[in-house]
Amino acid sequence: MIRINEHYSKLAASYLFADIARRVAKFEKDNPDRKVIKLGIGDVTRPLAPACVEAFRTAVEEMGRDDAFRGYGPEQGYEFLREAVAANDYRAVGAGVSADEVFISDGAKCDTANIQELFAPDIRIAVPDPVYPVYVDTNVMAGRTGAFENGRYGGLVYLESTEQNNYVPDIPSEPVDLIYLCFPNNPTGACATMQQLKRWVKYARETKALILFDAAYEAFIRDESLPRSIYQIDGAREVAIEFRSFSKTAGFTGTRCAFTVVPKTCIAYDSNGNPRPLHAMWNRRHATKFNGVSYPVQRAAEAIYTREGCVQVREIIDYYLRNACLIREKMLSLGYHCVGGDNSPYIWVKTGTDSWEFFDRLLNEAAVVCTPGSGFGRCGSGYLRISAFNHLEAVKEALERIEKVLA
Ligand code: PLP
Repeated sequence: MIRINEHYSKLAASYLFADIARRVAKFEKDNPDRKVIKLGIGDVTRPLAPACVEAFRTAVEEMGRDDAFRGYGPEQGYEFLREAVAANDYRAVGAGVSADEVFISDGAKCDTANIQELFAPDIRIAVPDPVYPVYVDTNVMAGRTGAFENGRYGGLVYLESTEQNNYVPDIPSEPVDLIYLCFPNNPTGACATMQQLKRWVKYARETKALILFDAAYEAFIRDESLPRSIYQIDGAREVAIEFRSFSKTAGFTGTRCAFTVVPKTCIAYDSNGNPRPLHAMWNRRHATKFNGVSYPVQRAAEAIYTREGCVQVREIIDYYLRNACLIREKMLSLGYHCVGGDNSPYIWVKTGTDSWEFFDRLLNEAAVVCTPGSGFGRCGSGYLRISAFNHLEAVKEALERIEKVLA
């Protein structure tokens, strides 16, 4: 008899986006004349940069030529892209990462989901609250948690991000082995300072823990004093794995390309306490279960590091940051406490009421869709996430409507 992985039955059904879609569909049916503006989902709206399109097209044409066709590429990614990443994303900010420590993949979602299979089933895991749900659900599937009760899974340590700690969680009071951190954060938009990351790196080194650092929104950082990579912190190469993505950096959500950095010096321990390099394990996993990202996509990604690509991509991010700034300023002017929106495309708004109640009010009275914070965890109750991923005109109109409702 074929049996299921019972841990899947523990997964709390995430109704968040389905529930939002249902409420929006009902509103649209009841109000066919009203145009709904969506500032909910975290998907980009602007097209690929011309430099990426050109590189993509050239690579596709190569694939159609006898003398330039390529079959399977290296599972870890082509050297040209790994080297561009190491040079531009790391060496340029003083973080020592070599090309062979970069693993190209088709998404930070898959990588942050898959990485946990390198670790023992009984490790203690710390996740942020509110959280990007992939970190939690993948560990539930792997059997590392207890049941879901009162909005939380047994066995996980929740790192609370609240107004009191400026939405950057403190070191937990109980011991943990694996720590998920995400900055700039989804959903709060908060960023960790050098000092705060230093504390986490120190903690990981002292306790032989490992940090999984998700920097999918790194491209939105404009404050020069903020760390762009955890490897800017001395000692992080032994205790941290970093995830990045071209999705939000360069509008690749539909094109698919990302990367994970596993330094050769990064270690975990076997049951006898012997150190084991994670680079070799991830390399083995990647080569066994993944066959690489398509050549044209890697060429398109490489193009963001050319002079014109760099300018074009920055202009796209600036566009979203301008939207974010307008949203943040408006919500502040209406008297709401906010975080994010300056070095991030997300604005986390303290609603002062139940998240869903506030969501319904904006939907029904302003025809604007946001995301209720409670969908991201217990600490999201009483908050709303507003996304800057939309066209400027739509954002301006949404803000005018919101003002009429809330002023
Ligand atoms: N990490 C975070 C924090 C995200 O918010 C997202 C996407 O929304 C991802 C990773 C996924 O990125 P990708 O499109 O590369 O899979």
